[in-house]
Amino acid sequence: MSKIVVLGAGISGHTAVSYLSKALKKKHEVIIISPNSNFQWLPSNIWVGVGLMSIDQVKFKLAPVYKKLGVNYKQAKAISIHPEGDNKNIKGFVKIEYVSDEEKGEKRNC
Ligand SMILES: Cc1cc2nc3c(=O)[nH]c(=O)nc-3n(C[C@H](O)[C@H](O)[C@H](O)COP(=O)(O)OP(=O)(O)OC[C@H]3O[C@@H](n4cnc5c(N)ncnc54)[C@H](O)[C@@H]3O)c2cc1C
Repeated sequence: MSKIVVLGAGISGHTAVSYLSKALKKKHEVIIISPNSNFQWLPSNIWVGVGLMSIDQVKFKLAPVYKKLGVNYKQAKAISIHPEGDNKNIKGFVKIEYVSDEEKGEKRNC
């Protein structure tokens, strides 16, 4: 089983993860790291700004979507990337720092 780590749940990251989860059908682990708890459709922010859309019309919660897709979602930010591992890990990894309340400030490799 391979592990694929996608950084950022913006337009690119979220699209990549949606396709990967369907194509790999849980045969490989797909992880997404995002400091945000919501996906926000940035191009429509302009309509929120002028009062033609509400903020809730341009965003949705990431956690339920990723649960349904079978994607391992971590609300965290990437702080360093180690594609060739280091002296303790022979495989590549990304160091992350959690940003959500319960685990805030905790650092892990994934
Ligand atoms: C007001 C506005 C209107 C726009 N209108 C249009 C339009 O009409 N048409 C169009 O084609 N484009 C438009 N764009 C541009 C479009 O939104 C961007 O091109 C697009 O969002 C880029 O997608 P992305 O996934 O590369 O980056 P982003 O959408 O910026 O996503 C990057 C993600 O990475 C996350 N991230 C940052 N640091 C870290 C870290 N250390 N670890 C993990 N995650 C991290 C961020 O939280 C973010 O969610 C508009 C942009 C804005 C702001």
